[in-house]
Amino acid sequence: MPRIAVIDREKCINGEGCPFLCSSICPVNRTGKECITLGEDNKPTISEELCIACGICQKKCPASCIAIINLASEKHAVPLHQFGENTFRLYGLPSPKKNAVIGLLGKNGIGKTTVLNILSGNIVPNLGQFNEKPAYSKVIQFFKGKEEQAFFTALSAGELKLSYKPQNVDAIVEKFKGKVEKLLQKVDEKDKLQELTKQLEIDSILQHSISKVSGGELQRIAIAACLLKDADIYFLDEPSSYLDVRQRLRIAKLIRELASSNKQVVIVEHDLAVLDYLSDYIYVLYGEPAVYGIVGNPKSTLNGINEFLDGFLRDENVRFREKELHFSVRAAAKKSKRAAALQYPALKKTLGEFHLETEPGELRKGEVVGVLGPNAIGKTTMVKMFASELKPDNTALDFSLKIAYKPQYIKPKKDMLVKELFSTNIDTSLFELEIERRLKVKPLFEHKLSELSGGELQKVSIAYNLAIESDLVLLVEPSAFIDVEDRLRVADAIKSIVDVKEKIAMVVDHDILFQDYVSDSLIVFSGEPAEKGFASKPLPKEDGMNAFLREMGITFRRDPSTGRPRANKPDSQKDKEQKKQGKYYYQ
Ligand code: SF4
Ligand code: SF4
Repeated sequence: MPRIAVIDREKCINGEGCPFLCSSICPVNRTGKECITLGEDNKPTISEELCIACGICQKKCPASCIAIINLASEKHAVPLHQFGENTFRLYGLPSPKKNAVIGLLGKNGIGKTTVLNILSGNIVPNLGQFNEKPAYSKVIQFFKGKEEQAFFTALSAGELKLSYKPQNVDAIVEKFKGKVEKLLQKVDEKDKLQELTKQLEIDSILQHSISKVSGGELQRIAIAACLLKDADIYFLDEPSSYLDVRQRLRIAKLIRELASSNKQVVIVEHDLAVLDYLSDYIYVLYGEPAVYGIVGNPKSTLNGINEFLDGFLRDENVRFREKELHFSVRAAAKKSKRAAALQYPALKKTLGEFHLETEPGELRKGEVVGVLGPNAIGKTTMVKMFASELKPDNTALDFSLKIAYKPQYIKPKKDMLVKELFSTNIDTSLFELEIERRLKVKPLFEHKLSELSGGELQKVSIAYNLAIESDLVLLVEPSAFIDVEDRLRVADAIKSIVDVKEKIAMVVDHDILFQDYVSDSLIVFSGEPAEKGFASKPLPKEDGMNAFLREMGITFRRDPSTGRPRANKPDSQKDKEQKKQGKYYYQ
């Protein structure tokens, strides 16, 4: 069976706390053979031919940076692409289809962006021959007789026009200077700049400098730049990041319209409601993050998402996760009997031209309060008042509670190691029992906070804020940068800690499924972004969801087999029926 040995070289601490331990404990090395040797970069290299997959180095490595895997099938003997020796490799590829949106679903680090880079021509697959110059002729030969042969023939001949929205939109600021309009004019091959920027609500910032726009605006500029090109295939990597629910659904509608005009679309998205809403087919990617990724067979959107949640791919007969992920409808009755722990008055706050008012409300111990609303409507302002970072204009807020607060933008201390963050003020047994088994942050303990990826830093910050002693936990956008699986694990950790320790949590997030899963009650914001915001008191979840979705003009039903909420297609029979009954959301 094919064997994979992968070393995360960035995390290896050889010479900085580790005396090349893997080499001295490897039983093959001990027989005098050179299974683990020192590479030119002073990090280990593992020979996959000599390795007997005993797993000792993987277990003993102090930086948890070695992975040894035996693949289950001979059909994975040749990867489609491998970045180098002892690095990540990808097996298989999805096939774009005309008039269809293909959705890619899988954990972070499983190869989704690599797939987009291959399909969009940014990477020529090397078929595992990473020491040789890759060539499309070999790839075409590799796929002979298959659908991919025609695709790569056309791609290599320059016969496909491609448009790509990258995952990291912040990079646009480094590449382009000048006004938004100028950037978009350069790519406006359809003469639709005015129409599209209006639909994306960025028409009012066309004269702004790219360097001055917000993350949400930058995301919509990047989407506009992608959609304005007259391409055959469009690739969009995580288009919903930084966007609020209304903006997410708007871009989902635009992408659907694009696909129905004889175009092909491939999308990577972690917001399951958005992915469900806009995809025609789903490819599930599974494997081991940062080690290897396998692209599964194409599936209908319903089956693809359900099988991903089940952790079992039926056609392939592959179980890739021990436990299924499921959306249970929470028993709210028990919780509503709990005494209110905190009553707060109506709050008012004016910041420049923006004015916020909130209804008075009460928060109950053991309860997670979700916060939903558009961007720039005052959600963070309210949370900051609860965290004592801002003072209300009309009253004083002094809860005399211990508060844990994870802001939207996490600023890591430069040289602090993750383990140092967790060394004081932590409820150790709570951390071990309820947090670590779900979020798995211990393998990151030897690393610097400033060197973590966005998703790693997010999980570390959530874990820390859940583990410190507190009565009120305030979390702003905990789902950002993390994948579907981790979102549900984070939600589980929040629910369980709040329940076990009788804390109160307030969670601001734009992912509807995440909010559905984690919240007991909801504060719903309305108003005019950047002008005035109004926050309701905490409403029972069904009432809050109904109010919010009515405002958005979208209805959700519940999938009978997984319990997850699914957005109804606009004007479908279900959509019309539910709107008529005023049931925008099903508990
Ligand atoms: Fe050596 Fe392979 Fe065992 Fe690691 S898994 S100790 S490389 S034989
Ligand atoms: Fe690097 Fe781990 Fe080997 Fe030490 S044991 S040299 S940290 S790979």
